Amino acid sequence: MRNRNAVITGSTTGIGLATARELAGRGCHVMLNGFGDRAEIDRLCAEIAAQSGTRVVYSGADLSRPDEARAMMADAAAALGPIDILVNNAGVQHVAAMHEFPDDKWDLLLAVNLSAAFHTIKAALPAMRERRWGRIVNTASVLGMVGAPHKPAYVAAKHGVIGLTKSVAIEVAGHGITCNAVCPGTVLTPIIEKQIAQQAQVTGLPEERVLQTVFLDRMPTGRLVPPEEVAAAIAFLCSDAAASITGAAIPVDGGYTTH
Ligand code: NAD
Repeated sequence: MRNRNAVITGSTTGIGLATARELAGRGCHVMLNGFGDRAEIDRLCAEIAAQSGTRVVYSGADLSRPDEARAMMADAAAALGPIDILVNNAGVQHVAAMHEFPDDKWDLLLAVNLSAAFHTIKAALPAMRERRWGRIVNTASVLGMVGAPHKPAYVAAKHGVIGLTKSVAIEVAGHGITCNAVCPGTVLTPIIEKQIAQQAQVTGLPEERVLQTVFLDRMPTGRLVPPEEVAAAIAFLCSDAAASITGAAIPVDGGYTTH
């Protein structure tokens, strides 16, 4: 995948950052996106560029806003050239009982976790169709496949991501473009760290037992999924070797969805 141009959303931390490193390491020019300290993000971009020898640019687009999602895709094409690989990975979480779930959090989670992928895919497809090659990978979740309490917006959005993935996959299958989802189990990143206190509140568990009881006990492997393992699965789906895999939702979940 040398010299492919890739946009990875939500790549300033966690799974997205590991994916940006992996794709750049395989020779892709990459656009990072997400929030964080600007000096630290600039340092990350310079580090990845120095290690990979590829071009690394950054967009601070807020993907809860469709206009910013569209502008990010235009900026990526202007900076790197036509986009070959799109990884929709930005995500946010909010944990609360359904009857108390804040309306504004519902709107935010649907916007970032689902609608942003609609807008970026829509923007990316014309150039992919013209060049008859494209790879789209959406980071869904095990919670795109099964339910969980206290996460109605996240579970709905991630199920929606898998539906969007299948629909796009069928539509572009004759154009050299694949569209897949990865479904991680628990990966210890800021999105999980931030919900420990919320989980303790809704479940009544002490905070120090949340990680084991709410997350690890669901995974037969009993270990957290390293972000690099999700990144490796995403990178494989972006390779030429994965041309026949499309419309799939691939668990990277330590067996979470087997029971
Ligand atoms: P993370 O919090 O480290 O990463 C989230 C990224 O999204 C960050 O770069 C953040 O800045 C960015 N982001 C958040 N809101 C944004 C917005 N409005 N606009 C642009 N960027 C925004 O968490 P992560 O675990 O690396 O999450 C990455 C993806 O993996 C998410 O879609 C998440 O739902 C999914 N996921 C994570 C786990 C897990 O256990 N960590 C499990 C399954 C799925």
